[in-house]
Amino acid sequence: MSKIKWLSNVKLETGEKLLENGTVETETAIFHLKIENGKIVEQLDVKEPIPAGQEVINMKQKLALPTFKEMHNHLDKTYMTLDWKACTPVANLKERLTFEAAELTLLSDTTQQRATKMIETLLENGSTHIRTHVNIDPYIGLKNLEGVIAALDNFKGKVTADIIAFPQHGLLRESVPTLMREAMRSGATMVGGLDPAGIDNAIEKSLYEIMDIANEFNADVDIHLHDGGFVGYYTTDKWIDIVKDAKYQGRSALSHSFCLGDIPVAQQKLVASRLAEEDVAIMSTIPINLGRVIPPIDLLDDHGVKVHFGCDGFYDSWSPYGTGDVLEKASRFCELTRKIDEKSLRNSLKWVTGGIVPLNADGHKVWPNIQDEASFVFFEAASSAEVIARKPSDRLVMIHGELV
Ligand SMILES: [Zn+2]
Repeated sequence: MSKIKWLSNVKLETGEKLLENGTVETETAIFHLKIENGKIVEQLDVKEPIPAGQEVINMKQKLALPTFKEMHNHLDKTYMTLDWKACTPVANLKERLTFEAAELTLLSDTTQQRATKMIETLLENGSTHIRTHVNIDPYIGLKNLEGVIAALDNFKGKVTADIIAFPQHGLLRESVPTLMREAMRSGATMVGGLDPAGIDNAIEKSLYEIMDIANEFNADVDIHLHDGGFVGYYTTDKWIDIVKDAKYQGRSALSHSFCLGDIPVAQQKLVASRLAEEDVAIMSTIPINLGRVIPPIDLLDDHGVKVHFGCDGFYDSWSPYGTGDVLEKASRFCELTRKIDEKSLRNSLKWVTGGIVPLNADGHKVWPNIQDEASFVFFEAASSAEVIARKPSDRLVMIHGELV
């Protein structure tokens, strides 16, 4: 039997208006949406009556936006639900890894509990898709993977996920290549990698190993790349070659990619065109660090490169900060790059929704459509620009027509 309900008084963005002073204002209107089996099947103007005798949820003129996608997280690392712990200062990445290794066994008993709290937090903030990296290392093997899968299983139907087998302590060492393959057979859905130069000390060998595993399991790829400057640039360029040869267009991403911010603009443009051509996405967590630049996201976007934001692992051995609100990342990016007008704020929503936006760049309504999934985040706001700039904390999350 099909389940029908109505969402009454939903505010949707419908277009934009050019004001006399040259600024743009987002236009909205109120609608009633008919939901059947979790999908939008009809849209009525607010003045039209809802047929009697059907379930109605009054959305009280709240603005409906697409749900968020959290595209870079480490569900297995968080300290959430444990006692407060600040981070131990270290001199470099190697030292951080040594420290993490010592703590991994200790933490692995509570992975499901900690990951569950993280998922709840992300979901409350509006993320209904989570891309998580999960440590696959010689210290705990697949233990964190098991905990993360168990946690995600309890959110089936609400949260979708990419689970990345992540060789945090190096891919080209001891049993790790075997463990990675075991992880892919045990529920991991994507292949990860980490600093082919800085950690593996063998750029090509590391990248080819990643692609070999990906090919073996027909899985997509997301590689952590902190290697900076020209080393990082070379790694990126090499990965694009490998993607091209393997016909892996649209199936891989590079996370962080600080190196793209280190190189001259002419080279940024060159690599951006190549990333776009082979459809390699860039994931950024918009870290605030006065000593390090982030990738040139606007330039990448202008070249057609897909960019997605994530919260990263947070409140863990790497950082005591973070909230689990990916919207905060869009807001922060806009503030860092001085996006202050309606249109540029509005256009930034795509980086936290997997590209889904109510209005396209020309200001025409493109979402939601009939037959779209009835999944929304509702805000008390005038437009998505206000949401990006003000990050209203009061939100309602709806998945397939059901409020969370
Ligand atoms: Zn990460």
